[in-house]
Amino acid sequence: MAFSQKLEAWYTDHGRTLPWRGIDDPYRIWLSEIILQQTRIEQGRDYWFRFVEAFPTVTDLAAASEEQVLRLWQGLGYYSRARNLHCAARLIAGQGGRFPNTYEEILKLPGVGRYTAAAIASFAFRLPHPVIDGNVYRFISRLHGISTPIGTDAAYREFEALLLRLIDPQRPDRFNAALMDFGSLQCRPQPDCAACPFAGDCEALRSGRVGLLPVRAPKPKPTDRWFLYFDLRWQQDGDTYGLLQRRTANDIWRGLFELPLLESDHRLTESELQAEADRFLADSFGLRHVAYTVGPERLHQLSHRTIHARFLSAELPHAPAVCPPQLQALTVAEMEKTPVPRLIDKHLHRL
Ligand code: SF4
Repeated sequence: MAFSQKLEAWYTDHGRTLPWRGIDDPYRIWLSEIILQQTRIEQGRDYWFRFVEAFPTVTDLAAASEEQVLRLWQGLGYYSRARNLHCAARLIAGQGGRFPNTYEEILKLPGVGRYTAAAIASFAFRLPHPVIDGNVYRFISRLHGISTPIGTDAAYREFEALLLRLIDPQRPDRFNAALMDFGSLQCRPQPDCAACPFAGDCEALRSGRVGLLPVRAPKPKPTDRWFLYFDLRWQQDGDTYGLLQRRTANDIWRGLFELPLLESDHRLTESELQAEADRFLADSFGLRHVAYTVGPERLHQLSHRTIHARFLSAELPHAPAVCPPQLQALTVAEMEKTPVPRLIDKHLHRL
């Protein structure tokens, strides 16, 4: 039996039922692919429904404010993906709302890589472009005994050329869905090879290399950053107020809001921290002799950064007389509705 027939027979019995499968709306397929880059299917399903409900069409998404989009995305991390999604929706809306319908045109959208372009092209337009993600790399590298390090351009080209020979040109959508599900459900990191329809063809199983494939390119070590956040609060007109600022630099969390921040290039000792905090409060807010507490260090891991964060909390008698212009005074209820990184969100909900 041909590879695609065997794969699709497995899919008929074991494939997932998902709300974005079996549809041909490129916008909704695109949403699912971008969300699923960030999260497991169970959690991604909730986010997908929330987005589809809030923005049923690409023009609805384009008309939303960036804050609305980031707020809905909150909790998924990698906020640049939400910004790219929004930016791409605006581009599409600006061209009359017609979603691009070739692989090459889809690939030009901000935030869309080869995997996502292949998924949209095959699911929405039935174009024969194979999807290649981590699960597919695992399955195909084991089946064919390929030891090229994955995640490299050379590996992508090698796997794509191989899959282009295998893809079912009549039903590329079904072939790709089956390939994705097979990689994630059957050829898992610890697979049950006895139950695999490809056991007789599998090079890794034959040569005892199931646990050794795929080969991964070494990851760069994350760099450390040290953040001291200032959570300043005061009462005014019966409400509790605090300060947030928007991150605008081309850096992590761009577009999101955070508490006033003092970043240092090393871990501060307790006496350094106190001196730096006193100086920051005086220079930025004209505050002297303020009573505050500083919580323990919290580690927050991003893909390329390890954030070492501490939170300084102070109750002020009134609003600071001096305040840098980028800071906004907001009520606690307003802060709750503002898009913030998960690290800040955890702190605010902890209070
Ligand atoms: S035999 Fe095992 S390693 Fe090979 S494709 Fe099947 S599940 Fe994966």
